Amino acid sequence: MLRSVFKCIIFIFPLLLIAQEDYSAMRKTMVKEQLQQRGIFHNPTLDAMRKVPRHLFVPEGLKESAYRDTPLPIGHKQTISQPYIVAYMTSELQPKKKHKVLEIGTGSGYQAAVLAEIVDSVYTIEIVEPLGIEARDRLKRLGYDNVEVRIGDGYHGWPEQAPFDAIIVTAAVEKIPQPLIDQLKEGGRLIIPVGPIPEFRMLQLITKKRGKIFTENKLAVRFVPFTRKKEKN
Ligand code: SAH
Repeated sequence: MLRSVFKCIIFIFPLLLIAQEDYSAMRKTMVKEQLQQRGIFHNPTLDAMRKVPRHLFVPEGLKESAYRDTPLPIGHKQTISQPYIVAYMTSELQPKKKHKVLEIGTGSGYQAAVLAEIVDSVYTIEIVEPLGIEARDRLKRLGYDNVEVRIGDGYHGWPEQAPFDAIIVTAAVEKIPQPLIDQLKEGGRLIIPVGPIPEFRMLQLITKKRGKIFTENKLAVRFVPFTRKKEKN
């Protein structure tokens, strides 16, 4: 009995190692073909995306598709963004080691993990409770101790932790929530998909310099909508 268990372990262990190697190779190819070849050169972002196991952030049945050039469903009508969009938004924030970052729209937790590889701390808010709980457990299991997940409406930001060096919003708004602009540090960067038409939103980069707000249109994108919790009276 013991012998067959032992045999089984000896047989399965190399298979598991091979599977890990495969995913690592898929990540390298993803970074080269989907990111570098399309003009993403920010090394900390590329390194993080070579490292974070994206296949562990998607539903079990979609693992093999995790490194494809596409967004994927994660349940509750939400999606994990396409790798290129994650990389683009991350690099536009110009994240640094000592930074404190706020994310609105935790989803699977993948974007938070990519940022957590680069910066000091990530605060992320998810409005759909089961997604938030799942992402919190997943990030903990994978050892991302520098990410804190809050369940709630991200419209109000995270005042107790403000101000932030960078803010990333991964759901589309019609109008940028003022609390997020207020919670941006001097010199800080906010990236957010904005616009009224679901099939066409504009990724906007907001910067704060000497108290003034500057807006740049960056890239046309598709994003799931930013939703609101009904305020209690
Ligand atoms: N960054 C995610 C992708 C998230 S998709 C990832 O890496 O997987 C956008 C997410 O924003 C969804 O999970 C959606 O539920 C969430 N969301 C939408 N409106 C929100 C709000 N007002 N506050 C917080 N999260 C919100």
